[in-house]
Amino acid sequence: MRVVLLGPPGAGKGTQAQVIAEKLNVPAISTGDIFRANVSGQTELGQQAREYMDAGDLVPDEITVAMVKSRLAEPDAKAGFLLDGFPRTIAQAEQLRSSLADLGQELDGVLELVVDEDELVRRLSGRRMLVDGEMVQRDDDKPETVRHRLEVYREQTSPLSGFYESEGLLSRIDAIGAVEEVTERALAALGATDGAETGDSPAGDD
Ligand code: ADP
Repeated sequence: MRVVLLGPPGAGKGTQAQVIAEKLNVPAISTGDIFRANVSGQTELGQQAREYMDAGDLVPDEITVAMVKSRLAEPDAKAGFLLDGFPRTIAQAEQLRSSLADLGQELDGVLELVVDEDELVRRLSGRRMLVDGEMVQRDDDKPETVRHRLEVYREQTSPLSGFYESEGLLSRIDAIGAVEEVTERALAALGATDGAETGDSPAGDD
């Protein structure tokens, strides 16, 4: 299955991506994680991306699209993937569509995690992650940067919702509630509730 996970910063995309991908038996591909790994590994890509990330801006499309293309060409993504954090602009979405078409592939669905903005700000400013055994705040989770990232989302990424809706691919999921509840909603929207995701016919109980 080829799925895109859409949603504002703080909606829980990273958490859901891991769980849903495992259920679907496809790799979760997070552009944010790939960028962060490159920043800490001090690669050239990391150096290119860092200033944008720290400012809460999007990394330019040329850089991001090239990175995703090469990731999608890896063997584990042949049979499917769950993209987390990509596409984030209409241009990225169009490039994704044409890269997939070149491979004779297309998306099966797009899940949008919906959370209201007050809740997002609350979640992001309280969020910490484990680095070298210590709980630290991500550089781009500082309050000013959070506000800017939400603005960038509203302006550049939220139009993707209409883009995928018009293609008949979009499902909107209420992303408030326990992690497992949100996962259930997501799998149900994909028609991949437990038992069905292996490709077995959905006969039997539901
Ligand atoms: P969040 O969803 O919490 O904002 P991510 O981990 O997805 O965080 O992304 C962190 C940062 O990485 C973004 O603010 C941006 O600078 C960069 N980034 C991630 N994905 C993309 C993308 N598809 N296009 C451009 N920049 C991206």
